[in-house]
Amino acid sequence: MNRTGFVCHEHYFWHHTGASAGPLPYGLTVQPDGHPESPQTKRRLLGLLEVSGVLDQLVRIKPRRADIEEIAAYHDRDYIAKVQALSAGVGGDAGELTPIGTGSFEIAQLSAGGCLAGLDALVGKQVDNVYCLVRPPGHHAEKNLARGFCVFANNVLTVQRAQKVHKMGRVAIVDWDVHHGNSQEHAFIEDPSVLTVSVHQDNYYPPNSGSVEENGRGKGAGTNINIPLPPGSGHGAYIDTWTRVVIPAVRRFKPELIIVSSGFDGSAMDPLGRMLAHSGTFRELTRRTLDLAKEICGGRVIAVHEGGYSTAYVPFCGLAVFEEMLGHRSGIEDPYMAIFEHMGGQPLQPHQKALIDACAALVARVPAG
Ligand SMILES: [Zn+2]
Repeated sequence: MNRTGFVCHEHYFWHHTGASAGPLPYGLTVQPDGHPESPQTKRRLLGLLEVSGVLDQLVRIKPRRADIEEIAAYHDRDYIAKVQALSAGVGGDAGELTPIGTGSFEIAQLSAGGCLAGLDALVGKQVDNVYCLVRPPGHHAEKNLARGFCVFANNVLTVQRAQKVHKMGRVAIVDWDVHHGNSQEHAFIEDPSVLTVSVHQDNYYPPNSGSVEENGRGKGAGTNINIPLPPGSGHGAYIDTWTRVVIPAVRRFKPELIIVSSGFDGSAMDPLGRMLAHSGTFRELTRRTLDLAKEICGGRVIAVHEGGYSTAYVPFCGLAVFEEMLGHRSGIEDPYMAIFEHMGGQPLQPHQKALIDACAALVARVPAG
């Protein structure tokens, strides 16, 4: 069994996103409702980890607040000050579709700092791999703008610490959230030392973002791969994507660390995503990623939690990932599997294969390590 690190904190559940109507603000013609990025999906995953006994097997890593200097390694100081000021008052929107509440600045510091603490534990060999169940999420946050429920770019800050403090060379980010990982793409688009791979639903959020054509620029040519799967893609499409694009690209790049941006909004139950993945999909993606990490970088994987909005289903997708990271099955089976596994559309479809073929051609452009 692996020593799997686990980063979580009660304050992650206290980041208050307030009222909205789905992901959009409410108004005089849109009745107020709950916000999808609520604590519940994350808290219920933590709950299932406890009742399954998996929590007892994990190595708890205490998160810390990333300080302003650490956050300013990527984000503009004016933007950091803006978030801080909103958080010191009654909150507000920190940019685009990113409500924050009182105290959300410090909680976002704890979210970013939790990932940094997870990295330190991994590098210090206290654990074999790490899952950071952090909140607010990060993979849409821009240098100077909160976007898509994300305040600070947790995964970008983790890469920067890995390279600057721990003197790592190449790092890869693999993003299976249903939305495009625009944070890391923008942060490292010209950086030949960071491979960013995002598998997402075609042209969803952010709009007009995450196309196959954005393949890295300048010295970073070839180091950004977008795989914008058609809506309705299921287990077969995700597995084919891993087999023919993600795994060969990361293997060719040969990073010293793999960061997984882990969102479960590609599941068949998700209220925002329009894909058909199930817990078995995330289990297999995790297993294949860990096997590759063992082959090329001593098994060093940090998973950083991103989206996933089905309160009923996120816990089972998450449990599958934790079980693979630990190398131990809890005995709790996904009760939804019997429905999702045989759903029409799960096998790879010809139009999905055509897109994956185009992305597979980009593997040869990845600078070999
Ligand atoms: Zn997402």
